[in-house]
Amino acid sequence: MKLTSYISPKAKKVVQSKIAGHGLIAIEPISIGEIVAIKGGHIIDLKLFEERCESLVGMSILQIDDNFVLAPLEKDEIEDVVIYINHSCNPNIGLRGEITFVAMRNINIGEEIVIDYAMIQNNNDEAMQCNCGAETCRKIITGHDWSHKDLQEKYGRYFSAFLREKIENTPPNPL
Ligand SMILES: [Zn+2]
Repeated sequence: MKLTSYISPKAKKVVQSKIAGHGLIAIEPISIGEIVAIKGGHIIDLKLFEERCESLVGMSILQIDDNFVLAPLEKDEIEDVVIYINHSCNPNIGLRGEITFVAMRNINIGEEIVIDYAMIQNNNDEAMQCNCGAETCRKIITGHDWSHKDLQEKYGRYFSAFLREKIENTPPNPL
């Protein structure tokens, strides 16, 4: 069986999103709690991926634990697993577990489906510029954003499970 990700029939990949090139757009209303996408791929050690595959398949991956990612391993697998979910500082989806993307609020037809990468990225040192246009835009997005207290409060249970566990086990800063 072919490697694949699931994308809800209420969403569609588009070539021109308002945020960044490819994107995922709602073509029917999506209700809070509904599954928008489930990411597929090969389960591979992060370091191994960076050494052997990153140059080949780029960043169409999802981190699922400290040292593991879901990724395509060959160029012709990219289109089968990529879900084109862009980052926004004002997201409408989050995670349930590590691979299931669910709506955090109701999403209207024509809205781009977006997540805050803070909910899925861990300690990767590469910073990304953000031009999402949200009032709350952080401008620079890093792999350490999950550790921001305000974002932890904002997203709560919608962090990827491995990050949520880190957040729960990090003692609060002493006053
Ligand atoms: Zn932003």
